[in-house]
Amino acid sequence: MTKICAAVDLGGTTVKIGFLTEEGIVLEKWEIPTNKENGGKSILSDIATSIKEHLGNKKLSDLCGVGIGVPGPVQNDSFVERCVNLGWGATDVGKELSVLLDNLPVKVGNDANIAALGEQWMGGGKGADPVMFYTLGTGVGGGLIYKDRIVTGFKGMAAEVGHLCMEPNEVDACNCGGHGCLEQYASATGIVKEMKRTLQSGVSSRLSLESEFSCKDVLDAAKDGDKAAVETIERSMDYLARSMAYVSYVIDPQVFVIGGGVSKAGTYLVDLVEKYFNKYCQLMKEKPKFGLATLGNDAGMYGAARLIFLL
Ligand SMILES: [Zn+2]
Repeated sequence: MTKICAAVDLGGTTVKIGFLTEEGIVLEKWEIPTNKENGGKSILSDIATSIKEHLGNKKLSDLCGVGIGVPGPVQNDSFVERCVNLGWGATDVGKELSVLLDNLPVKVGNDANIAALGEQWMGGGKGADPVMFYTLGTGVGGGLIYKDRIVTGFKGMAAEVGHLCMEPNEVDACNCGGHGCLEQYASATGIVKEMKRTLQSGVSSRLSLESEFSCKDVLDAAKDGDKAAVETIERSMDYLARSMAYVSYVIDPQVFVIGGGVSKAGTYLVDLVEKYFNKYCQLMKEKPKFGLATLGNDAGMYGAARLIFLL
């Protein structure tokens, strides 16, 4: 009989939960709100209750375990020191959730890492190894999968590519306190900020400093050939590709998967990344492939399931 698990992607506003088979088939999926009241104390019991309610004619013991992704660094596949977005202090997520679910095995991963694992299992990096996943959203996150496992490093900082320093002389500070981090240029927020710089330097554009615009507006304008937008996006993708060249010389990924809101710009972005990557990675005869994430918001759920099936 095929194995079934429960997979949970715990976010700051909603919890995505699903039942998946070891072949990667989603039998059922649903969402519940994340209750952050009282320091998020009821979150794990809400999840346990919801899983039980959705069992239908299955029993808890029919599940081979529960995989869960959380928004923060995870130690020993179970423990988090704190999750700012949930209001949690030190929490042994694996142990607490397991107790709530009749001692089922529970494995915990960081949300960006499990999204990477999901994309490597069933998405844009399917079948490839190593896979390096970049998520370009409000910030820039990363996840590295090597021999089907998440690489966390010594303190969980492995693959935090968003804070690779690309411009040491940058005047503006990054959220991390550093200056010139990749996410200051290649995230959605970074792209908008860089576009403002381009406009300030006087390059012509249909967008203007007098009115608000989003990252999507900049990407759309660039696709239409808007001079300032093209210049901005080319610069951002140059930074992104340079960081990928650095990553390549360390871990030599077979595939880079690009996800997050910015990646909705599709092949236009991928083509630019490839162009600049080649500029910075002359030595490699066989270049890595560049692909788009395909699982969207479900990537974390797939990755959480994969954590359990790899036990
Ligand atoms: Zn930073």
